[in-house]
Amino acid sequence: MEKALVLLHTVNGQLPPAALETLGLAHTLGGGFDLGVIGAGAAAAAQQVSGGAAKCFAVEGEAFAVSRYSTDAAACEAVIRASGAPLILAPDSMRFHRALPGVAERLGAAIDTHVVSVAADGAVERWYYRQRVETTLRRGQRPWILLIEPGSQPAAQPQAGAAPELLDVACETRTNVEGFSTPLAGEQTIRPDAALLFVAGAGWTKKQKDGAAHVDEAAELILDFVRRTQCSLGSSKSLVDLSGEGEAVLPFLTHLHQVGQTGSSPRHKKGLATCCHGEEPHVVGWRFIQERRAVNLDPNCGWVRGKADVVYVADAFEVMRELLKLL
Ligand SMILES: Cc1cc2nc3c(=O)[nH]c(=O)nc-3n(C[C@H](O)[C@H](O)[C@H](O)COP(=O)(O)OP(=O)(O)OC[C@H]3O[C@@H](n4cnc5c(N)ncnc54)[C@H](O)[C@@H]3O)c2cc1C
Repeated sequence: MEKALVLLHTVNGQLPPAALETLGLAHTLGGGFDLGVIGAGAAAAAQQVSGGAAKCFAVEGEAFAVSRYSTDAAACEAVIRASGAPLILAPDSMRFHRALPGVAERLGAAIDTHVVSVAADGAVERWYYRQRVETTLRRGQRPWILLIEPGSQPAAQPQAGAAPELLDVACETRTNVEGFSTPLAGEQTIRPDAALLFVAGAGWTKKQKDGAAHVDEAAELILDFVRRTQCSLGSSKSLVDLSGEGEAVLPFLTHLHQVGQTGSSPRHKKGLATCCHGEEPHVVGWRFIQERRAVNLDPNCGWVRGKADVVYVADAFEVMRELLKLL
C-alpha cells in the first residue's frame, strides 16, 4: 500500500468521531502515514493522536479556526504539499466536502467522495446516487484524495505521539464568518454520532384505544426520551407530511428527520421504531442500522416480516412510559 496522509480538522478544538474513524482506516492499511490537522487547537489535537505517524503537521490560528472555503483550502493544500503522500484520507465532513474538491483542482489531484472502504491493494469502494449504487474502483492518478464516509469505519484508539510541525500558511480572504444559523427552528435532535436512532411514526398522532388522539403526550414522551438518552430522532414520511395536510403534528419534526427512500439513511448501532409500520420505502433507510427493534400494536406490521431483530407487539405509549421510569 502507498503512503497516506491522514488529513483532519478539529471541531471546537477537538477531533470529532469521524476524524478518529479516518485515522483508524489509515492504521489498518499498513503503508505508513503522515498526519495533518487544521483548525482551532490543531497542534494539541494532532499530538494527542500522532502515534504511528511518520510526519505530523498542523495549521492553526484565528484565520483557520472557522470553516471557510478560502482558508480551509489554503491550509489543506499546504499540508498536502508538505507531506507529499500520494494518497490523502480525509473525513467526508461538511467542511472538507466543500474545501477539498477545489484543493484537488489546484494540485492536479483526483478526488472521490463517499468512500466506504479502502483495501490494502488500493481498491476503493464508494457510494453514488444517495447511497443507492456502490462501486469498486482504482485510479492511476496521484495525488488521490479520498473523503471517508462518517460511520463507515471503526474509530482508532487515540495514541499520543510527536508534536506537529506548525505550517505557516498565508491566505487572504474576503469572507468574514459571523456565526451559524440553523434551518431547524427548535431543538437540535438529529445526532449522527449517537449510538441509537429513535424513529417516531404516524401512529403517535392517530386515535388510540380510548378513541382520542394524544399528540401532546406523544410529544412529551418522545422528547423526554430523546433528551435523556441523547439519541438521534428520526421520523417516517407519513408523520412529517402531516403538517402539510393540516393534521395534528409533532412540532419538533421536520423533513430533515425523515428516514427512508426519499429521506436519509443514517448510520447508528441501534434503532428503535415506534408507531411506525415498517413499510419498505421507510425501512430501506435503515440499511446501515445494525440492531433493529420496533414497537407496534399490529402483529402483522412490516417490521415483523424480517425487517427487525425484535418486535414488541405493544402500545408504544405504555412502553415509553415504562421505559422513562427505568431511565
Ligand atoms: C416513492 C415513495 C417513497 C417513499 N419514501 C419514504 C421515506 O423516505 N420514508 C418513509 O418513512 N416513508 C416513505 N414512503 C411512505 C411509506 O411507504 C409509508 O407510507 C410510511 O413509511 C408510513 O408511515 P408510518 O409507518 O409512520 O405510518 P402508518 O402506515 O400510518 O403506520 C402507523 C403505525 O402505527 C401503529 N400504531 C398506532 N398506534 C400505536 C400505538 N399506540 N403503539 C404502537 N403502534 C401504534 C399502527 O399499528 C401502524 O402500524 C414512501 C412511499 C413512496 C411511494
